[in-house]
Amino acid sequence: MKHGGHHSAESKAKMSAVHKGKWVLPRPGRGIGDRLRGIPQSEEHRRKISRALTANNGMRGKHHSEEARRKIGVASAARVRGPETCRRMSEAKRGELHPNWRGGLAKREYTEDWTATLRRSIRERDRYTCRICGTQQQDVAVALDVHHVDYDKTHHDPLNLVTLCRHCHRRTGFNRSQWQAFFVLMLTPALPEQEQ
Ligand SMILES: [Zn+2]
Repeated sequence: MKHGGHHSAESKAKMSAVHKGKWVLPRPGRGIGDRLRGIPQSEEHRRKISRALTANNGMRGKHHSEEARRKIGVASAARVRGPETCRRMSEAKRGELHPNWRGGLAKREYTEDWTATLRRSIRERDRYTCRICGTQQQDVAVALDVHHVDYDKTHHDPLNLVTLCRHCHRRTGFNRSQWQAFFVLMLTPALPEQEQ
């Protein structure tokens, strides 16, 4: 509605219906035609806009792979900031400062059977040592973390749990599939040697 204008009788009726819950507002963005409706444009102009916005650019209906997306992101960031700045920014965003860091949030996802006793038993099994870097409990001020190998915080099988220092635990927030494979190999009991 234009500033200072009046609602038409029709839109007044609609508004009143909305208030009474009788009128369901059309979902926005259903199609380009819907979005352009109400904006005074010639048919021809409308068709042009629609064509321009829905033109097949070769990626239509396809998705970039995760790797490709990462590259595109890095490349476009590098164009604007230069590679050196990018490197420094990524360095500065490690760990707790990184937007992916979910320290506080992750805690709420743990279920009830995620007990201190269970965590202690895992630390005990791992001799109170970080399984990545070897840091020992006695060398750090806070309790060693217990990490879920498959990132499922409800999956408390000891083979899915591993003791890590806080620093290494943060590292497992990135390159998740590699870390998962690493720990699975580490925790899977070795097959008995074949008899000759
Ligand atoms: Zn560590």
